[in-house]
Amino acid sequence: MTAHNRIDHSADNADESNSARSEVRVLDQSRPRSENMAANKIECNACPVLCQITEGRSGACDRYANVQGVLTRVDPLVLLTRLDGQSPAEHASVQPLELQRLQDREPSDASSSAQEVNATSASPELFVTGVGAGTTYPDYKPAPFMVSSKLNGVDMVTVVTEGIFSYCSFKVKIDTDRYLGPERASIRHRGEVVGHVTTAEYGSQMLSLGGVHHLTGGSKKEGRITCEMMMALGNKHAVELDIEGGAKLVVQAGRAPIVDGVEEKHMRVGCGSATIGIFAKQWFGHVDEVVVVDDHITGVLSEHQAGRCLDMPPSGIKMRGRKSTPGRYFQVANPGQGWGGTDIANPLDIIDGFDPEHARPGMRLLMTSTTGEHAAWFVLNEQLQPQPAAMPSAVQKVVDRIVENCEPSLTSVLFLAGAGGSLRAGVTDNPVWLTNSIKQAMTHVSCGGAPAYVWAGGGITVMVDVLRMPDQSFGSVPTPAIVAPIEFTMRLDDYARLGGHLDCVRPLNEVIHAERQRSVHWPVDHSDWPVHQKPMLG
Ligand code: SF4
Repeated sequence: MTAHNRIDHSADNADESNSARSEVRVLDQSRPRSENMAANKIECNACPVLCQITEGRSGACDRYANVQGVLTRVDPLVLLTRLDGQSPAEHASVQPLELQRLQDREPSDASSSAQEVNATSASPELFVTGVGAGTTYPDYKPAPFMVSSKLNGVDMVTVVTEGIFSYCSFKVKIDTDRYLGPERASIRHRGEVVGHVTTAEYGSQMLSLGGVHHLTGGSKKEGRITCEMMMALGNKHAVELDIEGGAKLVVQAGRAPIVDGVEEKHMRVGCGSATIGIFAKQWFGHVDEVVVVDDHITGVLSEHQAGRCLDMPPSGIKMRGRKSTPGRYFQVANPGQGWGGTDIANPLDIIDGFDPEHARPGMRLLMTSTTGEHAAWFVLNEQLQPQPAAMPSAVQKVVDRIVENCEPSLTSVLFLAGAGGSLRAGVTDNPVWLTNSIKQAMTHVSCGGAPAYVWAGGGITVMVDVLRMPDQSFGSVPTPAIVAPIEFTMRLDDYARLGGHLDCVRPLNEVIHAERQRSVHWPVDHSDWPVHQKPMLG
């Protein structure tokens, strides 16, 4: 018998005991029929939208459906299985359930699916993720799954749910020294403001996308478009973005960013000053001066500490911009799409000339960007003006090494969300104990099985790399808000101490036999395997 065949959603059963609830997990999300509701409809209360769903149809979020009068989570529950030497991407497969298939499903289907998984491994090589687990709203209801298992002889429990997050955003790191737009500039998606450019990091530009302000604080359209963009980004799809006063982007987790239609190849080796420091010795003897053009810190070899350590004589070069410390210049040009993230196409534009006291005809000057993508060789003429010349092979070799040392440019997407609200009530009657247990490392937090970084301070603010999560981990509801998996794993005796919903705990074997599921294989990486991080008793 399938899980949904066992479900009785009659009003009489709405307050069943907890033990019964553990067998009929979707019962709590279909409410007693109201008098005004058509006979072929049921109401879903898995989120505040409270869809009334006609038989054979799904609700507004496409996550819940009315299957023969039973409210049913459409997507299967995702299990992680650990397998040697294989990446999740090789094995993860998305199998959206067609409603018709679900209706036609025979009782034997569930058991054959479970046998498939059982054949793969036994506890603890299986991990039940929140993907497809379903949501509980309001969250004073116990979470959809509380799964018990043994780890090295210790009784463990994992509380599994799909959280509904209004307070959440994506932090996007784009490996490029190209100027994407001014800090704090608005970012649009399909015409709506969905985020902003935030503080650049070393070799990367950073975006902050989504968040409660755009989801709830603007127009209805802004909230809807923001939500769609966030879901696509979290599910590892490509998203088009338009930065006000800056570039047009296509970003996708794990892929090279596309900036103004051009796919980015490399991130820079370092800032201009760092590049001087790294390669000074290799240039020494082949050049009289090197300028590494960079939007932030342009480096000048003869003045730089690295040049001084090599006893390089001053070249008399006069740089534009603001001198910071010897050999390090800020603001030599405006930011842009030219050399080193500046707006210059001709590198000589940032040189004001050469002091005849130090400079001499025939002096050799290399100018390069921080990626080596742009590089030019000059020799000073009698008037001490740099003249283009063919770059010597010894110098070209070092420029090539800059290129070699630039890592591939990628887009990284981190999901950042606050699980410190009512979601905790689905875990324990006393929510602050859950928060405290996480801070004390008694409880391990994961999202779709991926390790989550928990921010210091109050609440449970987690951050997770979407690439480590199973495909299609994210959903949404039209409130609008993002739906994302979250799991709390701890020792069973600790869970009892936290005031957990012990009467809802089900053995792993029971869950995998009862639920429709898809398995996602995970590589052997003990640091990643969610239940391997043993909680410590305080
Ligand atoms: S939007 Fe989805 S979760 Fe919310 S009530 Fe409708 S079907 Fe249920």
